[in-house]
Amino acid sequence: MRMPEVDQAVLARRDAIVAALRAIVPGEGVIDEESALRPYESDALTAYRQPPMVVVLPETVEQVAAILRWCHDNNVKVVPRGAGTSLSGGSLPLADAVLLGMSKFNRILAIDYRDRVAVVQPGVTNLAITKAVEGEGFYYAPDPSSQIACSIGGNVAENAGGVHCLKYGVTTNNVLGVEFVTIEGEVLRLGGRQLEPSGLDLLGIIVGSEGLLGVVTEVTVRILPRPETARALLIGFASVASAASCVTEIIASGIIPAGMEMMDKPAIHAAEAFVQVGYPLDVEALLIVELDGPSAECDHLIDEVQRIASGQGAVSCRASTSESERLAFWAGRKAAFPAMGRVAPDYYCMDGTIPRGRLVEVLERISALSTEHDLAVANVFHAGDGNLHPLILYDANNPGELERAEAFGSDILRLCVAVGGVLTGEHGVGVEKRDLMPVMFSESDLAQQQRVKCAFDPQSLLNPGKVFPVLHRCAELGRMHVHKGALPHPELPRF
Ligand SMILES: Cc1cc2nc3c(=O)[nH]c(=O)nc-3n(C[C@H](O)[C@H](O)[C@H](O)COP(=O)(O)OP(=O)(O)OC[C@H]3O[C@@H](n4cnc5c(N)ncnc54)[C@H](O)[C@@H]3O)c2cc1C
Repeated sequence: MRMPEVDQAVLARRDAIVAALRAIVPGEGVIDEESALRPYESDALTAYRQPPMVVVLPETVEQVAAILRWCHDNNVKVVPRGAGTSLSGGSLPLADAVLLGMSKFNRILAIDYRDRVAVVQPGVTNLAITKAVEGEGFYYAPDPSSQIACSIGGNVAENAGGVHCLKYGVTTNNVLGVEFVTIEGEVLRLGGRQLEPSGLDLLGIIVGSEGLLGVVTEVTVRILPRPETARALLIGFASVASAASCVTEIIASGIIPAGMEMMDKPAIHAAEAFVQVGYPLDVEALLIVELDGPSAECDHLIDEVQRIASGQGAVSCRASTSESERLAFWAGRKAAFPAMGRVAPDYYCMDGTIPRGRLVEVLERISALSTEHDLAVANVFHAGDGNLHPLILYDANNPGELERAEAFGSDILRLCVAVGGVLTGEHGVGVEKRDLMPVMFSESDLAQQQRVKCAFDPQSLLNPGKVFPVLHRCAELGRMHVHKGALPHPELPRF
């Protein structure tokens, strides 16, 4: 993995940088001992590791602003970090950068049930928002499987999705406002409790910006009343193809389930061995379909989905009859990634999204690619959204297997783009998909995206090496001729 060249001049200033950070964040908020930096060396894409130059853990917005301003003025790179569960290497440290950890921003600041919003600090975990409001019958809808650990700041940066995003939208549809600090240390507020932005939709740019544009220090999210009823169906199929066409038929019939997930045989067996929730082991594919709403509507939709499933050749079907049974259906799905740890020492989780109508052919091609690359694959994914998560199983201790897993992953993502899909559904580009960006975007598309980056961070100090395969100097993108460092028309603002 090629990363930006390490700036030796910055490393030579390390002691002075640590001292400057200690002056901003006194006490134990700065970590510079080698052994204490190790826990930060990777996020959940553990194939890539790099201890950071130094970690700083601010506690106030003023400290975040002062750190960013100091780094900007002293030309030091910054990598923002939430809980470090990114699967795309988004929060992978750099050897010559400050890792800015937001874990101490862990307070819920306000809950307003009348306006149906919660205002939270970015280090609050996704699940903690629901826990804070569930006593009043509310919840926060986007539910990544990592919700027990991942932070809402990380969710905003990655535009995270989850099982219930098919019906309720992903993070961008559930965030109303942010407080956000630029690399120059300016504190901005975008959006708020109102439903419409006051000008250009800058909030839409910040959500999904992968730590490249600034640091989120506060998030206002929508909270929703819990639906009166929720029931889930566990539907088994004799082939992946019939499960995939059932997904297409359910959506085509006009039903939008609260969640619709698919697991193939290897995933079913691994999850069942891990959590023993009674998944059928004699099927090739399993759909978990959740319906919610008033109980009469829910019962009607359960019947409708069962009818469609049997028309598509379902070989087994169980409907949950209690809340504990519904949760048990989901427990296997939510534990499917960790369950893979029992099957193979390492797995590489892909995240492409395709039009739902192409599911059958894409899953068949992934199976053929598994043979070509001689690596096993398990599929567990958000079928309703067409968001695939093939888990490529490998052993990093076997020479060459990581490279084969990467080549297999790259083929899967190219395939997603070839059938009209996109490189990422919810995990972001990070370092993982960075070099595949030209498969999806033309050079001028990429240049336009980088102009947005330049507007926020002209020196490219925030999370460099992520998302863009080649980071152009902002002056190049403005097509300026800079002679001996002198800008033409210095009186004009530059982007
Ligand atoms: C087992 C497992 C299951 C997962 N399931 C899902 C899933 O179902 N859906 C899904 O969407 N993702 C899933 N993920 C991926 C991951 O949990 C999400 O991408 C999550 O949003 C990352 O949050 P984090 O706090 O860990 O962020 P980090 O990993 O710390 O950072 C991720 C990115 O956000 C940036 N960032 C973090 N905090 C801030 C901030 N305050 N301001 C600006 N930038 C910031 C970082 O620079 C980095 O680019 C899963 C991960 C694991 C390990």
